[in-house]
Amino acid sequence: MIEGLGASFIYGSALAFGLVVGSFLNVVAHRLPLGESVVSPRSRCPGCESPIAAWDNLPVLSYALLAGRCRKCRQRISLRYPAVELVTGMLFVAMAWQFGPTLLAPVFMLFSAALLAAGLIDFDHQIIPDEISLGGFVVGLVVVPLVRSLDADTAYASALVWSLQGAALGGGLLWTVGFLHARVAVGLGRSFPHWPGEGEALPTPREADYWLWFPGLGLGDVKFLAMIGAFLGPWGVLDTILIASVLGLLVGGCWGLATRNWQSPFGFGPALAAGAVLSLLWPLHEWGLNLALAGALAGSSASRAPLPGAWGLRNDGLVPQHGFEP
Ligand SMILES: [Zn+2]
Repeated sequence: MIEGLGASFIYGSALAFGLVVGSFLNVVAHRLPLGESVVSPRSRCPGCESPIAAWDNLPVLSYALLAGRCRKCRQRISLRYPAVELVTGMLFVAMAWQFGPTLLAPVFMLFSAALLAAGLIDFDHQIIPDEISLGGFVVGLVVVPLVRSLDADTAYASALVWSLQGAALGGGLLWTVGFLHARVAVGLGRSFPHWPGEGEALPTPREADYWLWFPGLGLGDVKFLAMIGAFLGPWGVLDTILIASVLGLLVGGCWGLATRNWQSPFGFGPALAAGAVLSLLWPLHEWGLNLALAGALAGSSASRAPLPGAWGLRNDGLVPQHGFEP
């Protein structure tokens, strides 16, 4: 555990960094799906179009000082903006707690920010932009093995294989589900509102759509899970799918019960994003490993098996790694 002033400084910096990145995420989530630049122009009030001054654009603080209204036209500002900033700040603190003073901490801070942006955009538009999924996939394959090999006694080659396995497992599993579902559905003579397009013939194996366009599952989700796999490795991908499926069932079930409409408006993307964050903080597979180990050691003098620890990134994951232990 980090103690005293050092801890306050590190967690405080993580929080501040997260709030600033969260403010940028609001811009990204709004503009990226519209194909607009995320850098310029300055943010404007959607009500009166007046540019928002820097001092009115401080994360969370400005929203509180302005009581949630535009300074010029007094139109309400959506509560979502400060909420996204606060959530990003908390994610960054969680990653600082999880990875300690290592290079992995900033890498996974930015990874969790990319997950949040993808989740927000998928929620709004039912798409995950390639800039995030494919861009993140490339960054994950390049940066994660490098940082892992610098940060721990992991060889670069095995770290690269680990990321490749995660990406192949994540993308491959979801692609297989989508492909088989499409073939079975077509075999059963089912038709879909958007697939194939109205009046179009079913795609044949010689067309790309046969391999890449599935009803009910966007290729965006496949690319997104490949990106998650590049960062989390094969076990992390399995944890992510498990948690995302449970979350999807819970949210979809509650939505259905509340509205009597069983067509949930939520895509799989937000559930995958949440699942990836949760699997970073609570790695299910490692609990299984620890439980098995505790069982194997029960009765022996070494029966104090390590409790569910942090993520096994820096070694084989059997030692709790929370905080800044010497
Ligand atoms: Zn205004």
